Amino acid sequence: MKQIALYGKGGIGKSTTSANLSAALSHRDLSVLQIGCDPKRDSTRMLMQGRFIPTVMDLVRVRGDANVSLKDVVFTGYNGIRCVEAGGPEPGVGCAGRGIIATFQLLEKFGALDGDVIVYDVLGDVVCGGFAMPMREGYAQEIYLVTSGELMSLYAANNICKAVQRLASRVKSKCRLGGVICNAKGQPREEELVSEFARRVNSTMVQYIPRDHVVQQAEVNRQTVIEFAPDSPQAGHYRSLAGRIVENTNLSIPTPLETDDLESLAREFL
Ligand code: ADP
Ligand code: SF4
Ligand code: MG
Repeated sequence: MKQIALYGKGGIGKSTTSANLSAALSHRDLSVLQIGCDPKRDSTRMLMQGRFIPTVMDLVRVRGDANVSLKDVVFTGYNGIRCVEAGGPEPGVGCAGRGIIATFQLLEKFGALDGDVIVYDVLGDVVCGGFAMPMREGYAQEIYLVTSGELMSLYAANNICKAVQRLASRVKSKCRLGGVICNAKGQPREEELVSEFARRVNSTMVQYIPRDHVVQQAEVNRQTVIEFAPDSPQAGHYRSLAGRIVENTNLSIPTPLETDDLESLAREFL
């Protein structure tokens, strides 16, 4: 079983990329489980015909974990993909990270952390112990950074590299960087910049995904691009990403950049 996590800045396109990746993987006859680990709870929406499924945290809060069953939290979406949303903490008091780990423990208890591929879709603005849970506890073993060429998004990706580097140094840790996914904003020389960033952090750019309006068209139709426009070039990019992830053996321990170096890198490609 392959357990991969997509990390990146909020709004960068993690959920769009995750859902399309899962859809593309499912068409390779792989059994896929996608787990949304972002309090935004919309990771799996496009796989569920636009539906926000109940979150594990909400159910556990209301009923207590002893009264939550497998069918309450795992929903079957597009092409048989199993979908779970961890959900968020109670505003002002809870810890999202605890919710994420409680979700994994519950799924483990049900024997539901299985299949060919698990895709964890994780918020990466805050790389605290909480949001590092999927990689810290040995669940996510291949980390993919989703970034554009914008400095703030590279900054978040670089921070995630710091977390992966730290966790990878632990004895028995299997956590490695799988690569960088460039989800472009359309700025000049963006592909070159993200590719160079990936090289400098001791990794590679596994896929360039252009900005394309078909993503919005699919979204308003409550579908992934793979479902809505399977013959579009954009669907081809997501299929290519799926192929590269399935075949990827280039897992590395990242070498994060100093902030000054990151900024001068971004300046080089202005
Ligand atoms: P995140 O999960 O990182 O917070 P989302 O996947 O929700 O981000 O994406 C934020 C918005 O960006 C979405 O409304 C989506 O339509 C748009 N988007 C993401 N990737 C692309 C792309 N390659 N082309 C066009 N729009 C995109
Ligand atoms: Fe939030 Fe992270 Fe702190 Fe938990 S550990 S409360 S998720 S910042
Ligand atoms: Mg998201």
